[in-house]
Amino acid sequence: MTHENLKGRVAVVTGGGGVLCGQFAQTLAKQGCKVAVLDLNEAAAQACADEIVANGGEAIAVGCNVLDSESMQNARKIINEKLGTCDILLNGAGGNNPKGTTTKDTLEQIDLVQKDENVKTFFDLDADGISFVFNLNFLGTLIPTQVFARDMVEKEHACIVMITSMNAFRPLTRIPAYSAAKAAVKNFTEWMAVHFAPMGIRVNAIAPGFFSTKQNATLLWNEDGTPTARTGKILAATPMNRFGEPEELDGTLLFLCDEAYSGFITGVNIPVDGGFNAYSGV
Ligand code: NAD
Repeated sequence: MTHENLKGRVAVVTGGGGVLCGQFAQTLAKQGCKVAVLDLNEAAAQACADEIVANGGEAIAVGCNVLDSESMQNARKIINEKLGTCDILLNGAGGNNPKGTTTKDTLEQIDLVQKDENVKTFFDLDADGISFVFNLNFLGTLIPTQVFARDMVEKEHACIVMITSMNAFRPLTRIPAYSAAKAAVKNFTEWMAVHFAPMGIRVNAIAPGFFSTKQNATLLWNEDGTPTARTGKILAATPMNRFGEPEELDGTLLFLCDEAYSGFITGVNIPVDGGFNAYSGV
């Protein structure tokens, strides 16, 4: 795949110290983008940037917090000085957290009458846990966009790529905060596509199916490394019967970033999911 249009463009990748966004950062660098790898975990961001540079690409790492406007302004200043103004913003930082998760798929009578400390029901969810997950995924994309879209309004072919999830279409059991937040991110993608259209900024989303990474590890794998019952259910509901590999998101990312392929596309949310979203279960 070659995407000449992307050569020399400045790509800002939030969550670039993580599994999927680290892959996105590498992919954009291979197309000649100058990549800023942003992450709360500065060491992880640095490792990703170092790998890009070792492979002959151009990248810098910036430790920052997508929930803190000042921290993002500071990141923008560094990036503008070292790489230039932002052409592509990949809003990737996000994920679920046990704080926003119930133990069981559905409410069971036994958990109402016989309280078990190890079972977190809907009634045990606390607002702080829900806010943590909701803020990370929703405000964590809104704040970086407020900061970096300032660079983009001056450009002809700027674009924003959001990362949603299967739960943006239908909620997944046990993760009410993450489900609601990713539905909000899909809705926000559409809102921004409309809002920024006169400025020529396209805004689209990738909806990954199931990929085994750090943020969902406790849901997918037991401590001894064996698959959880949830993993069995996911694979049974994925017609291709496997988890995705991070590099299988590359084609959709490059398609959405390169106006030669997607110049008239804005406001879409593309599933890359082995058929999960199409399958009714029957
Ligand atoms: P990951 O945990 O490997 O990466 C997420 C990264 O975000 C981490 O490096 C983390 O340090 C960083 N981060 C967290 N809070 C931050 C903050 N406040 N400021 C800056 N950085 C912060 O997870 P991943 O699976 O690679 O997820 C990447 C994106 O893909 C997320 O938005 C996630 O919701 C989404 N997603 C993942 C899957 C999957 O199956 N893994 C499926 C659908 C969507």
